[in-house]
Amino acid sequence: MKEEFELFTENWIEVTAIWSKIALACSGLILIFYLLLLLTKRNPVKKHQFISSFEIKYLSFAGVIFTIGATLYLNTLLVGFYTKSEIILTMKTMVSIFSGFLIGYIINTYLKVLYPTQLEKRLNGLRFKQRYNPNTGHELRLLTEDEEDEYLTEELINLENSSEYEYDVWLDEESGFKLIETYAGKLHMLICDNCNYRTAKEYKQDVSKEPTDTKQGAMIKHYKCSHCDHLQRKEYPIPALFGYSKPT
Ligand SMILES: [Zn+2]
Repeated sequence: MKEEFELFTENWIEVTAIWSKIALACSGLILIFYLLLLLTKRNPVKKHQFISSFEIKYLSFAGVIFTIGATLYLNTLLVGFYTKSEIILTMKTMVSIFSGFLIGYIINTYLKVLYPTQLEKRLNGLRFKQRYNPNTGHELRLLTEDEEDEYLTEELINLENSSEYEYDVWLDEESGFKLIETYAGKLHMLICDNCNYRTAKEYKQDVSKEPTDTKQGAMIKHYKCSHCDHLQRKEYPIPALFGYSKPT
């Protein structure tokens, strides 16, 4: 009976060891695949779009596979050391699964809470990187939100105002050459009062006046510019709780 259990644990260790290596290798391959795809995007706008749409998704996917690999690897280590009964095997497996959840939770929290800020900085680096006139090599200047409207059609301005798209206009002041770059809509981004680019992002909101049944309330949204760190706030109405509302 004892020999049978020993054989069983040996088998168990072999199988978990193989699958842990497969999973860890796969998580590495997912990251390499992502980096290779990223390398094919030479243009800063395409790179920006690709990173903002896919980087966190790929990292999360690799994180899940890595967590599975790490859980199995931990299980291999634990079971490989003095596992003489089924109860010990069960307990060690529970400990590995619990540790796996913890690892997954840490990776997920990092990607959801801390990583977006770092990503934003990298994306801004791409967006504000110096552009040059492809014909003369002359430096282009990025126009502010006030200046750029002169170079955009009404349709583009409307799309920008409805937050569907964001346009950057780069101008060569010597030759008049202009480069218009399109970014997917930056929802909730406001124009920064300081640097005048559409880079102010909401980070918190407070209710400054509670709405009543018939009267509007108000809330203040706080924004921080991801380009120059300027802080600003803007007040928005909150509709009355019932029916018709009297503006206050
Ligand atoms: Zn700013």
